[in-house]
Amino acid sequence: MHRGSDYKRRMLAIRLFGLPTDVNSSFERGAAAGPAAIRAALRSERGNMASELGPEIGTDIAFTDDGDLPLTEDTARDDATIRRHVAMLCEDGDVPLALGGDHAVTFPLVEAAATCSGPVNILHFDAHPDLYDDFAGNPRSHASPFARICEAGHARRLVQVGIRTLNAHCREQASRFGVEIIPMADFTADRVPVLDGPLYISIDLDGLDPSAAPGVAHPEPGGLTVREMLAVLRKQTAPIVGADIVELHPGRDIGGVTAILGAKLVRELAALIDRNGPYSVDP
Ligand code: MN
Ligand code: MN
Repeated sequence: MHRGSDYKRRMLAIRLFGLPTDVNSSFERGAAAGPAAIRAALRSERGNMASELGPEIGTDIAFTDDGDLPLTEDTARDDATIRRHVAMLCEDGDVPLALGGDHAVTFPLVEAAATCSGPVNILHFDAHPDLYDDFAGNPRSHASPFARICEAGHARRLVQVGIRTLNAHCREQASRFGVEIIPMADFTADRVPVLDGPLYISIDLDGLDPSAAPGVAHPEPGGLTVREMLAVLRKQTAPIVGADIVELHPGRDIGGVTAILGAKLVRELAALIDRNGPYSVDP
């Protein structure tokens, strides 16, 4: 039967694209250079394309790079460009893997994924909850995407991992939206739930400890190790309908280690998307 799982599995392709924007950064711009730095690390002969889950990216897994989207610094227009690209991938049955850019891009990315598959369960790694109603008057700030996502009803569950900057306003927002926060202070991989599909994964690189990921605008001590993040990722078994890696600020990086980490996370996310298989609304 041609609609069987083997056929669908062969058809699953992962599409990488860059979102070179930092217009909604609140403190220091620089994340617009993130996609180019991650791509350079991904293609560098310093490493290879193997993933810890087994497959080699591009050899064992269908993986293509769509390049950077033409963004303009006009947020409404850029949001529409991002949504259009994700909608096109969704129509093709492909899975978007986006490189930021500041974290504001996750709002249109999730909006388009939820339009395609229905409301998503979100696994969000970050030092910050990004739940501000607005930040310094900007409701589309990179400190606010998850407030916009929750208000719009795009998240069935939002689980945040790595959080270590929770203030009174964001605590109130989290309880208002029913956000499940696993604070860094109590973190073990066991405390992170295994989410159902459709699953969306958003990785702000500042969720990791600054010793592992110094190249970010808002380094916050006491974060996740790379090994802890990979453990949380690999226990997720649900079909993934989209993912992003955001907030690489190459101007603050040291020896390119954060870009190299971003490239590793591209490989590990691609392998996880492939392993978990395609999401289908009809079971
Ligand atoms: Mn952050
Ligand atoms: Mn963030």
